[in-house]
Amino acid sequence: MASVPFLALACGACSDAQKERPWIVDRFDDIKVIRYEVPGFEALPLEQKELIYYLAEAAKCGRDILFDQNCVANLPVRRTLETIYACYEGDRTTAEWKALEKYLKKVWFANGIHHHYSNDKFKPEFTEEYLLSVIESIPEERFGELNALRGEVCVAIFDPNVYRTRLNQTAGEDLLWTSSSNYYSNVRQAEAEAFYEAMAAADAGNPEPVSYGLNSQLVKEEKTNRLYERVWKVGGMYGPAIEQIVGWLEKAEAVAAEPQKSNIAALINYYRTGDLKEFDRYNIGWVRDTVSNVDFVNGFIEDYGDPLGRKASWEANVNFRDSAACRRTEIISANAQWFEDHSPVDAAFRKPVVKGVSAKVITVAMLGGDCYPATPIGINLPNADWIRKEYGSKSVTIDNITYAYDKAAHGNGFNEEFVLRAEDRERIDRYGKQADDLHTDLHECLGHGSGQLLPGVSPAALRSYSSTLEETRADLFGLYYIGDPKLIELGLVPSFDVAKAGYADYILNGMMTQLARIEPGKDVEESHMRNRKLIAEWCYEHGKADRVIEWVEENGKRYIVVNDFERLRELFGEMLHEVQRIKSEGDYEAGKALVEQYAVKVDPELHREVLDRYAALHIEPYGGFVNPEYEPVRDAEGRITDVRISYPADYAAQMMHYSTDYSFLPNRN
Ligand code: ZN
Repeated sequence: MASVPFLALACGACSDAQKERPWIVDRFDDIKVIRYEVPGFEALPLEQKELIYYLAEAAKCGRDILFDQNCVANLPVRRTLETIYACYEGDRTTAEWKALEKYLKKVWFANGIHHHYSNDKFKPEFTEEYLLSVIESIPEERFGELNALRGEVCVAIFDPNVYRTRLNQTAGEDLLWTSSSNYYSNVRQAEAEAFYEAMAAADAGNPEPVSYGLNSQLVKEEKTNRLYERVWKVGGMYGPAIEQIVGWLEKAEAVAAEPQKSNIAALINYYRTGDLKEFDRYNIGWVRDTVSNVDFVNGFIEDYGDPLGRKASWEANVNFRDSAACRRTEIISANAQWFEDHSPVDAAFRKPVVKGVSAKVITVAMLGGDCYPATPIGINLPNADWIRKEYGSKSVTIDNITYAYDKAAHGNGFNEEFVLRAEDRERIDRYGKQADDLHTDLHECLGHGSGQLLPGVSPAALRSYSSTLEETRADLFGLYYIGDPKLIELGLVPSFDVAKAGYADYILNGMMTQLARIEPGKDVEESHMRNRKLIAEWCYEHGKADRVIEWVEENGKRYIVVNDFERLRELFGEMLHEVQRIKSEGDYEAGKALVEQYAVKVDPELHREVLDRYAALHIEPYGGFVNPEYEPVRDAEGRITDVRISYPADYAAQMMHYSTDYSFLPNRN
């Protein structure tokens, strides 16, 4: 599971002037691209630098996989546009060219033709005639195989009725038939559900069930109606990219120390066989390894992109420990049992013994696949419930990324526009980042790992509402505890003011400012956004009689303010009590009712106001990153003697570089 940044906040009071090198390297549409730094890399011992270099190469090799997973048209569209981008010799100053260039930047950013967050298909601001005229000005042979796919590419870009959304979560519709992700081919929702229910039933009672369907496309054969899986492995679907990943992992294995060496070997074995038991074996080894300084994620991990929450997108992340910041998460992990025992949920739903919650703060060295360019700021893995229960989970927060966000948001006027009260602005300036960091730690280290299911309750019982409710549960856990006196006692916060800063931010975002990420007329779809809206609206409603949270109008603008922070904390606790019950009992109807009532529908007038005020600030609501580059320095015998890091600041150049040097899949997979 992953947490995504919930704020695009400014640290307005900070007077630290803009550095010589800007943090934001590109802006287009609703996106800003930021660079991040990797402090401490130069000081690492050579073996660790070399290990990072190999793992970073492996992290770049699966990029095409994600494009194809997101939609079958993505690779042909991207490659057609890249060929144009590289070869066009006509006028690059016209409005239509600029629109085409912007579209390509969006496709790179979203790893496909659908918005990375809203999942809606992009609307091109150039015409099909223009695209075709540009293509005609370029020698045909430059397009190679793409010539035959031209018609499909045009339909994918220009026909609004084809591939409308990557991920449809509208209750009552066939979620597979109406989603254009490529996890299922020619399969109806009921067929897929029956296929995997039968698989699970055949394995009923196994205390160590594999995550069925995690690493494959489910296909229905046209003639026979037979359903079968195309497994993502060496020699299977996506084989050419996976072979490259494995090649770099083998080099990494050669320089890694135990226990990491054996873990990398297990991962390689999983990639070779596609056997999900091997993946579990790897995960168990990985979660137990708390000693390696360099760590990484590389594989089919998160299932947010599958409407049925089963198939995982490919992602990668290479990182090393940020020792100073780790103190915070060590304290939290060391007290994991205390937090579980005092959690405001029914005693039957608490874990009697919390196992192996390991948490650390990391410095990211490379982002890949579904972590690039938009990245989570916290990760908690593995996702398999039984492994989490038996072996615990490993939780990280990514400090150099949140630092870069903070720097990029610096002085952007956000707080002045949306936060009414000066005391709230001051607290947010002073404690906002601390509250965010702690909330992320608590969400990841403890929130997701807390609680237990009643015997016999399936982890999949909440179906399409499970992601939203799981994020809600973890967020509530974090919100409840950042205001707990225990944190002061543990020395993690100086006072309740940190929680006040966090609460004011959270409610503002959940009820108001996150709407800036949604197009007019649309509902809230993404599960983290739904969870924030759910929490904020529920607390507003349940605290209404006491005016715990209140709408205030001033100078024709609406503001949301928290009047009673102590009571709000109690409401977080009460809501956690209910959401944990829903998860533990697998109460689908209650979960559905909560989400549909509070998390989905948007007030169109408020939405318009937020969009207008946000637009006036010229802040892009989404951020993503360019990666650093690593270059090995070799001696006369070819041995690596050092690895040099550099920070490119050209987004388009990095994308073209990756598409040239790290693109291994055919147009059709
Ligand atoms: Zn989460």
